[in-house]
Amino acid sequence: MAITNSDEGVFAPEPLVTSSLIREDEGEYTLRPQRLQDYIGQEKAKGNLDVFIQAAKLREEPLDHVLLHGPPGLGKTTLAGIIAHEMGVNIRITSGPAMEKPGDLVALLTNLSENDILFVDEIHRMNRAIEEILYPAMEDYVVDIIIGKGPSANSIRLDLPKFTLIGATTRAGSLSAPLRDRFGVQLRLELYTPEELALIVKRSAAILNVPIEESGAWEIAKRSRGTPRIANRFLRRVRDFAQVKAGGVITASVADDALSALDVDYLGLDDIDRRMLRAIIEFYHGGPVGLETLAATINEDAETLEDMYEPYLMQIGILTRTPRGRCVTQKAYEHLHLPYPGEQQSLFS
Ligand code: ADP
Repeated sequence: MAITNSDEGVFAPEPLVTSSLIREDEGEYTLRPQRLQDYIGQEKAKGNLDVFIQAAKLREEPLDHVLLHGPPGLGKTTLAGIIAHEMGVNIRITSGPAMEKPGDLVALLTNLSENDILFVDEIHRMNRAIEEILYPAMEDYVVDIIIGKGPSANSIRLDLPKFTLIGATTRAGSLSAPLRDRFGVQLRLELYTPEELALIVKRSAAILNVPIEESGAWEIAKRSRGTPRIANRFLRRVRDFAQVKAGGVITASVADDALSALDVDYLGLDDIDRRMLRAIIEFYHGGPVGLETLAATINEDAETLEDMYEPYLMQIGILTRTPRGRCVTQKAYEHLHLPYPGEQQSLFS
């Protein structure tokens, strides 16, 4: 099964602002942990956040602005919701692409209450004119707005309530330095281990009221490419198979049958991963090949490959990024059952 952007809700049209964490999937809401202690994994980020939250509460101040970065589906939105819950404040949710003009952001900021959290997803996709409104807002809690046009234009300064901006991005490198520097807390979320994902799958299964065996949870976890959103999505699909074909209980063999039917192999790779690896091997002798060239070869979007596919392929040691482009490793040849030319090459080099 292909993991597409629309699947992840990344490019889905969104309302400008919402205070609800329900996004692409109504059911997700119930699966999102609401307390830090229920948020599985990410021990480093969680430990740091816990200290910052407690300190801010002791000082009765809003939390410093937080930047969360890491691949999609790792729990950035969930963590923003948890921060709001732990701080006991309201959260308003928007995204970079949902804001079209500076006025959209000004309206959002001026409607915040003291200590509120403004969560901006995909903050790297916010346009520069809007971004500039954020600088004084983040630093001094003010916005400058221009009234009128031409020589009679007037700039007026509005005070804002003290608030916390939480920005989420899949690519911290695309953020401008002035914006990045204004986040006092910057946390990187890492891909989850299969052990952590198995805990997430069991927790979600309990919430969804689906009986699951330990080995069934493990089978889903191993194939979810380090990503809770994928693990939860697979759990739902495996549940369908279990209900229709296996009396409702998720066992390792039901999970294996269901995921194989969805074209997810034992490492969690799908059709796009395999096409990508095969293209590097067959057209570019194992690499290096530039990302754009590779994306054009398999007719996929370069940003999607970089954000959603490569992190996991690199983590499991199948793909490497070099200054000259992407290369596959011997493991990729083995996984695709293709002969590895490495030894022959070294004979002639
Ligand atoms: P992101 O904002 O990074 O794309 P989300 O916060 O939307 O990711 O998380 C996707 C789903 O994964 C959520 O619905 C939530 O149920 C689940 N999830 C993410 N992180 C965790 C976690 N640490 N523990 C349990 N469930 C999680």
